Amino acid sequence: MQTRPRFHGPSDLHLHSSASDGTEPPALVMAAAHRHGLRTAALTDHDTTSGWAEAADAATSLGMTFVPGMELSSRHRWRSIHLLAYLVDPDDAALRAMTDRIRSSRLDRAREMADRIGRDYDVAWEDIVAQTSDGATVGRPHIADALVARGVVRDRAEAFAGILSPANDYYVALYAPDPVTAVELIVGAGGVAIMAHPAGRAGVPGDGLLDAMLDAGLAGFELAHRENLPEGVRALKRIVRTRDLIVTGSSDYHGLGKPNLPGENTTSDAMLARILAGGTGSSAVFA
Ligand code: AMP
Ligand code: FE
Ligand code: FE
Ligand code: ZN
Repeated sequence: MQTRPRFHGPSDLHLHSSASDGTEPPALVMAAAHRHGLRTAALTDHDTTSGWAEAADAATSLGMTFVPGMELSSRHRWRSIHLLAYLVDPDDAALRAMTDRIRSSRLDRAREMADRIGRDYDVAWEDIVAQTSDGATVGRPHIADALVARGVVRDRAEAFAGILSPANDYYVALYAPDPVTAVELIVGAGGVAIMAHPAGRAGVPGDGLLDAMLDAGLAGFELAHRENLPEGVRALKRIVRTRDLIVTGSSDYHGLGKPNLPGENTTSDAMLARILAGGTGSSAVFA
């Protein structure tokens, strides 16, 4: 007898809510995913799992499959590397200690950036707090929203191109673990680690770093993402073939905060099946 898989595409495995820097609460993110024709969606807020319960309820009541995820911050020298962490145990002590530390550093860093920006522009810490949901992971997008509300810039894109750029003196780095440690934490929490937008403008990480991440258990790459550049994708495809890695495609939806729309890139059923089979820290939720 043949058993039908209970999950099916189209699947979008990278969406953000107001639990981090998306503009909509988790339930509305799942509603947007549903409106765009998706049947499986993951919530991957930066450094937090706090949106999972609301998203899972909303997704399943719409007949969708929910995949719990997170986008864990890491840093290699000056370069920020994001790791999608699927099916981690949200109560894993080591992972929790790390996400607590990153989020508290993000708060200090946003305050310091607000102080610096406030010397030149009419924006204060309270304006940023007003743009941030209670308990959310704070990021530069919230500072951008405060600048928009104050009429300093038109949108997040303009803020990132200018005031919030790392090239600017207003910029303060956040604490984040090195990428190998980040992969180890995800794997240690029973999760599947996939490198997010791995071929963006910063370029594909060097072979030494990539090999170290793969040796630590990095399971694959988000190859279909609007920020990836073709040359880097070609290089990564060779590594994927050699090592039989997982490949995903996703939108990186942030509500109104970015032009990215749910389902603009998707992940195949075969790859979704590998992720679901590989994660042991938590489970997908089926309608
Ligand atoms: P942070 O982690 O606080 O340094 O901020 C980085 C976040 O800002 C990323 O997660 C993106 O979602 C967001 N971001 C980066 N560039 C842009 C942009 N041009 N427009 C809107 N959001 C952006
Ligand atoms: Fe973001
Ligand atoms: Fe990212
Ligand atoms: Zn993202």
